Amino acid sequence: MSLIVLAGPAGVGKGTLVRWLLANAEGYSLSVSATTRSARPNEVDGVHYHFVDKAKFEKLIADDQFLEWATVHGDNYYGTLLDELTRADAEGLHLLLEIDLQGARQVMKSKPTAITIFVQPPSFEVLESRLRDRATETESQIQTRLSNARAEIESAEEFDYEVINDDLAQTGKDILKIVSESEG
Ligand code: 5GP
Repeated sequence: MSLIVLAGPAGVGKGTLVRWLLANAEGYSLSVSATTRSARPNEVDGVHYHFVDKAKFEKLIADDQFLEWATVHGDNYYGTLLDELTRADAEGLHLLLEIDLQGARQVMKSKPTAITIFVQPPSFEVLESRLRDRATETESQIQTRLSNARAEIESAEEFDYEVINDDLAQTGKDILKIVSESEG
């Protein structure tokens, strides 16, 4: 079982890539993160995230229940529960972590065997229009995400691999190849 970290700026299509991998490859599962942000209309508790309040999240931190956690976009906690690793291990599945840069750096330190992959947009313009098309954020949230994205893209070289998310199926196959080659 491999731990696979997928990072990259908001709007780059990590979520779509994860869905492609789950639908097209055997043996993968997705780590469901805990977060204090509120659910979007289409999101289901326990499926997209474990939606918890701040007090509950801070209790989980105090109880050492996280592999990593971070405050993302300045306002909400997000974190990977150690339970997710235990579950994937028991099921013999690779575990995909779709997390931000701060979280990815923590995993690089605590789990050096994790496969870390940075997902790049084809260009910054493409990223901006994808973020705007999603229309789930306000203009000021979009501006925050764009400035975070610029900073995140500069960190790509810290990762084991980079893929450019131009064509979904091609990028998905690139990731499958990386994982199978890493398993040796
Ligand atoms: P969103 O609010 O759009 O679902 O996610 C915002 C950001 O939080 C994304 O960049 C996503 O990768 C990051 N994120 C989601 N789950 C986790 C997590 O468990 N840990 C960390 N560090 N970041 C996460």
